[in-house]
Amino acid sequence: MPPNTLQALNAQIVACELCPRLRAYCAEVARVRRRAYIDQQYWGRPVPSFGDPDARVLALGLAPGAHGSNRTGRPFTGDGSGDFLYPVLYEAGFASQPKAISPHDGMKLTGLWITSVGRCAPPANKPTPAELRNCAPWLDREMNLLKNLRVVVCLGRIAFDGLLAREARIGKLPARSGYVFRHGAQYSLPSGLVSIASFHPSLQNTNTGKLTRPMFLEIFKRARAEATR
Ligand code: SF4
Repeated sequence: MPPNTLQALNAQIVACELCPRLRAYCAEVARVRRRAYIDQQYWGRPVPSFGDPDARVLALGLAPGAHGSNRTGRPFTGDGSGDFLYPVLYEAGFASQPKAISPHDGMKLTGLWITSVGRCAPPANKPTPAELRNCAPWLDREMNLLKNLRVVVCLGRIAFDGLLAREARIGKLPARSGYVFRHGAQYSLPSGLVSIASFHPSLQNTNTGKLTRPMFLEIFKRARAEATR
């Protein structure tokens, strides 16, 4: 029987072993560790989602970072992507504090749930299509349990494609043509959800200025406005 709470779903997700390549990689990263974190115990398992179960906005990422959430066990916590994301969430009114260090840092989200299309850190940040397919049922169950969901912010093209695939799986997206990924693109989906696409806050994008803080803040302010319409 599928779990009937997000907490119960998270408990199942952290025990998932469906992708041998990813499970082996995460365990190896957790065993070897980066020199800066050598005194820490890495999480090393699938990363559970995080946030407000009554959220109207979902932030959908790609997958955990090897030394970020694969280390800390909370999405976008402990790496450069999170250092860029959480201050914006704080400014947009979704997060209780701008700094995300660990699951014990006191961070609370209001109105927002954070998840990703892949739950295990992949080598070179690239899950295979088969691994993304393995992970897709978790997203389906999770979105079913987010009863107030109105807006999905897709962080990067793979997350955007993952949302469209989910909409197709539930029979609400007859054709994908017309839905094009670009930063800031917004679509009212036939299911009633609004999708807003953003560049992913990876260091590759934020260090080069492809994604700036004002650009990212605009996305989350817009998500908030759409969610309360
Ligand atoms: S990526 Fe998803 S499906 Fe694959 S092992 Fe991790 S949690 Fe399971």
